[in-house]
Amino acid sequence: MNRDRPSHHLPNGRFRNPWPEAAGDDAMRGRAWEFAREWFKGGHPPDPRPGDLPLADPELAHPTTADREMRITWVGHATYLMQLPGLNLLTDPMWSPRASPVSWLGSTRFAPAHPPLDAMPPVHGVLLSHDHYDHLDRPTVVQLQRRFGSELVWYTPLGYRAWFGRLGVERVVELDWWDEHELADSGYRLVAAPARHWTRRTFWSTNTRLWCSWAVLPRESTGPRVYFAGDSAYTSAYQEVGRSLGPFDASLIPIGAYEPRWFMKVSHMNPEEAVQVYEDLGAQGAFLPSHWGTFRLTLEDPLEPPRRLREAWAARGLNEALLYVPRHGETVRLALP
Ligand code: ZN
Ligand code: ZN
Repeated sequence: MNRDRPSHHLPNGRFRNPWPEAAGDDAMRGRAWEFAREWFKGGHPPDPRPGDLPLADPELAHPTTADREMRITWVGHATYLMQLPGLNLLTDPMWSPRASPVSWLGSTRFAPAHPPLDAMPPVHGVLLSHDHYDHLDRPTVVQLQRRFGSELVWYTPLGYRAWFGRLGVERVVELDWWDEHELADSGYRLVAAPARHWTRRTFWSTNTRLWCSWAVLPRESTGPRVYFAGDSAYTSAYQEVGRSLGPFDASLIPIGAYEPRWFMKVSHMNPEEAVQVYEDLGAQGAFLPSHWGTFRLTLEDPLEPPRRLREAWAARGLNEALLYVPRHGETVRLALP
């Protein structure tokens, strides 16, 4: 036995959520058929109508932003383009119409990915949170690779190198939770941080790859600090993330895919928990929601997450000016100190 094995690593090479509140995660996955029954029974709130989720005109910086500005553009779902001075990063890039192993199955997007991939400025790196189809999309990987080639580096949690290798993608940097990586030719470093989630692309591959969140930090003591929470349930680990890696100028936090609560609470936080995460991280900087308004993954009204987010934000007495809910394609421009 390896006494130094981290608590989220299992002896068989798979991964787990190491916190007491995650004890029910595995048992819950065994009840997936009950969720499927609710899904097919129907009766849940309908999909958005055309016009409910209007597109915005993005304000991308070409090639990157000026020194004292950060621009963060919501492409849809968990895909954000993060433009920091001298560095453009994408999170969980997903431009396909469906989040599914096959192109003809699964719910289609409520709004197109916007701006289109062709309109992207040079992308230097991708922060990948995990392997679910709504976050790791093979056609998008191929398109990005074709467009940016060897300029592009894929930052992933542990266990992804072989998957990317099969697509001919070699520039993959795998990090374990709390590992740090300094970006060449820029003043930034990345830290892979915990998330409470799981992975699976095929029936037998559950948790063979790790999941994570990401902090983008300056190499010097000053500079922009951004947190991308990926896909996660609520966990007490955010307090440690805030203490170790915060405070952040901007936090990208998931707010959707939470109903039915009895089943989803082990995989996805709800808007109230997302606000709790922001407070655990130190309650500083901009809040930008992700993981909503794009694909139907669960049973809540797809337009409900931002409403509940605003209510929870106000109920906690947080600064209204720090809550941003961009439309698809909208750019949030933030001045840096
Ligand atoms: Zn996921
Ligand atoms: Zn997801």
